[in-house]
Amino acid sequence: KASTLSKDNNKTTESEQTDKESSDTELPLYKYLIVGAGTSSVSAYRAIKARDPKAKILIIGEEPDVPYERPPLSKELWYVDPAVAKEYKIGKSKRDSIFYEPRPFYLSPKALQEAENGGVGLISGKKVVKLDGQKKKVWLNDGTEILYEKCLLATGGRPKNHPVMETADKDVQDRTILFRNTSDFTRLHEAVEKSKSVAIIGGGFLGSELACALGFKGLKTYQIIQEKGNLGTVLPEYLSKHTTEKVQESGVDVLTSLTVTEAQYNNNQVELTLSDGRKISVDKVVVCVGLEPNVDLAKTSNLELDEKHGGFRVNAELEAMSGLWVAGDVSCFYDIKLGRRRIEHHNHAWVSGKLAGENMTGASKMYRYQSIFWSDLEPYVSFQAIGIIDSNLETYSVFEKPPEKKRQRKKKTKESNLEIAKKTTEESLGTNQEVSKDTGSEEEKPKEEFNKGVIFYLRGGSIVGILLWNITGKIYRARQVISDGCRDEDLYEVAKLFFAPRK
Ligand code: FAD
Ligand code: NAD
Repeated sequence: KASTLSKDNNKTTESEQTDKESSDTELPLYKYLIVGAGTSSVSAYRAIKARDPKAKILIIGEEPDVPYERPPLSKELWYVDPAVAKEYKIGKSKRDSIFYEPRPFYLSPKALQEAENGGVGLISGKKVVKLDGQKKKVWLNDGTEILYEKCLLATGGRPKNHPVMETADKDVQDRTILFRNTSDFTRLHEAVEKSKSVAIIGGGFLGSELACALGFKGLKTYQIIQEKGNLGTVLPEYLSKHTTEKVQESGVDVLTSLTVTEAQYNNNQVELTLSDGRKISVDKVVVCVGLEPNVDLAKTSNLELDEKHGGFRVNAELEAMSGLWVAGDVSCFYDIKLGRRRIEHHNHAWVSGKLAGENMTGASKMYRYQSIFWSDLEPYVSFQAIGIIDSNLETYSVFEKPPEKKRQRKKKTKESNLEIAKKTTEESLGTNQEVSKDTGSEEEKPKEEFNKGVIFYLRGGSIVGILLWNITGKIYRARQVISDGCRDEDLYEVAKLFFAPRK
């Protein structure tokens, strides 16, 4: 039973440490402890409460805020009234705020200990710096020590820095933002009011969403991408190129196949030198070059890290060792269908957090769910996807004809499914006579419009990922196709499933 909180300065000698260990019985003990206060954590405590209503759950989070969802930080919050955005509200018609629960929902550790009917306690602004999975004990950065029976690690990740920006002068670093948290949003949001120009480094989800948002805000926005186009690591080349055209239509100057080689402070601006020798000067730089999972606790916990995917290795029940589960961005889990993976998306954080929470209460469930993700590049691009979405894989795509052509074709044929146009980036798929091949040399062709479409990602002949382009309400079908292990099928026929009206 929890009793006292003890503190030390983390510099104890070995004998002092032994004394401390022998007095562990004096330390507060929680049945459920959650390290990290993000999306996975919220989903986990809700699952625990659903199965163990009087549970006492303590969450420790490094950020000062109560738990919140991150997707609006690069989307909705840039398109609502700035005064509303400052309070992290995302509009009147939707759920009002990015915070999952208001602050009063969370109890202090003391109130949690005394709560007869249990509850959720939160220590915010504190970091867990050490974890011993055998002793079931954590140490906080202020010296507090806590014992647990069951623990969830949901520590997410932090933004990687760009090697040039990381080593640049202080004046450059003062004008550079790495983006992940509410405080990063506030800093960039305030900077927008005082700045005229910004450069975003990175062409992934975050870089592309923020570029559209800042272009919308009227800033001269550059986006520097090392790939040939936006979302080039996930979309097939022709669709990445099309996406880049759309991002440019949103007012962004997208500079593709380029990297930053130098950054200097000059005349109150940052001057970036690009790999082709070009120089651009901007008021602010936002670095969006990927995520590094927060695995600092591996050093003291001896938990196994995954060399290929990063993150803590867990089994199919999301357990890393007895009494210790890992969920969300930081969890490298075994996907029964698609092999070992780590996923950096909201829906996975939510569903894996829920499963971990259930298993902390003894459910022993395996993680079989195929999570989804989505991206919105306002106002032109919107898609949902499931499974392994990687532009290095072979892809096969089927798109609906643009509306005018559709009308003309309707007069000629009664078979409405022939209104589907097909594209593939792979010559080899051309064996299907109905496939119209588009194999790279897109340069000379007129701009194409891509209305609704489905893209299959293939590995060894099996569909391992599906991306639905401007198609909503059909992700359940995509999940079914992946779960069925669809292999060597007529992909055109499979694609028709996604254009058929819902019964
Ligand atoms: P996090 O949300 O990162 O939470 C982990 C928390 O743990 C953090 O608050 C961290 O400070 C804390 N922590 C870390 N270490 C410690 C420690 N030692 N002690 C105490 N606390 C610690 N995904 C989508 O699918 N769709 C989207 O549209 C989308 N948009 C996004 C937009 C933005 C701006 C960002 C940044 C991400 C977006 N994502 C999106 C990704 C999605 O938000 C993440 O996958 C999700 O937040 C992961 O949740 P998590 O709980 O694993 O980790
Ligand atoms: P990302 O992995 O999506 O993209 C990283 C980009 O940075 C890629 O274009 C990559 O080529 C580039 N890059 C990597 N190293 C580089 C270097 N040294 N120099 C130049 N470019 C380099 O990551 P992100 O866009 O930074 O997003 C951060 C995190 O937030 C990710 O986990 C992402 O999944 C998540 N996120 C998701 C969504 C969504 O799902 N819609 C939206 C925003 C953020």
